[in-house]
Amino acid sequence: MKVGIDLGGSHIGVALINDKDEIVKKIEKDIEKSENISSEILAMIDSYISKFKEEYNIELIGIASPGNPKVNDLSISNIVNLGIEKLDFKDIFQKHNIPIKLKNDSKSAGLAEFKYGSLKEYEDAVFLCLGTGIGSAVFLNGKLLHANKHIGFELGHIVIDRRGEQCNCGKKGCFETYCAMKRFKERAKKLLNLDNISSEKLLEEIKNNKEAICISNLIDEYIDNLIIGLSNIIDIFEPEAISFGGSFVYFKDLFYEKLVTEMQKRKYTFNKDDVPKIVLAELKNDAGMIGAIL
Ligand SMILES: [Zn+2]
Repeated sequence: MKVGIDLGGSHIGVALINDKDEIVKKIEKDIEKSENISSEILAMIDSYISKFKEEYNIELIGIASPGNPKVNDLSISNIVNLGIEKLDFKDIFQKHNIPIKLKNDSKSAGLAEFKYGSLKEYEDAVFLCLGTGIGSAVFLNGKLLHANKHIGFELGHIVIDRRGEQCNCGKKGCFETYCAMKRFKERAKKLLNLDNISSEKLLEEIKNNKEAICISNLIDEYIDNLIIGLSNIIDIFEPEAISFGGSFVYFKDLFYEKLVTEMQKRKYTFNKDDVPKIVLAELKNDAGMIGAIL
């Protein structure tokens, strides 16, 4: 058995996974930001592993997290959303003596989608996780591409407007400053004068106001920006398919059909016959946990 852990911005998912990479048991818990968040998360992971070890032979622990995984150092640094500078897994490794694999969360989810979900029929594909930012994973010839020093392939930081919105990375006009779902939701809330509203309610309100000019413009503008970002990605990697994950999947009714139609119509790519298939992530929250052990 293996243990796959997905550390998100506000929750942690821990799964016991069998030899067929299927989830046998799953625990999901919310995490709240606190001063001792690093030690709380490490203690939580340690206790789950101890519990699983009582019943099963655990051969691998996979951990997917935002930030920068340092495989040789057994640590993940710069987990911005949780305010964690460094999460160090050396003690857990020493205590349990089980190999630990560390991965970036989007790369993990992408791997699971590539092997078992929306991208399983393709050799050359791109996974984009549209949520708080835009995470990404690129596959060519059946393999995940990775850079040597850090993880690389951060497609969310391709600039689509150099005088555009300020990005956390320091540049202006990055793809994610226009197409992360967080930005879309913030803009929609502002236009509709809504505050403190759930995603479910927000989607309902947007659908109710779809004919309002400000909302239809917002959706059109989102799709325009998405197509520019995608055309850059297509020209570089020539994927057969692009899969969208993250909260985009939840809001798909607003964008999916129009996006596909417009991409076919505009053909913004260098090779005009090179419009990839647009698919939606299938594994939902399980993707990060499964991808962590792959
Ligand atoms: Zn950026």
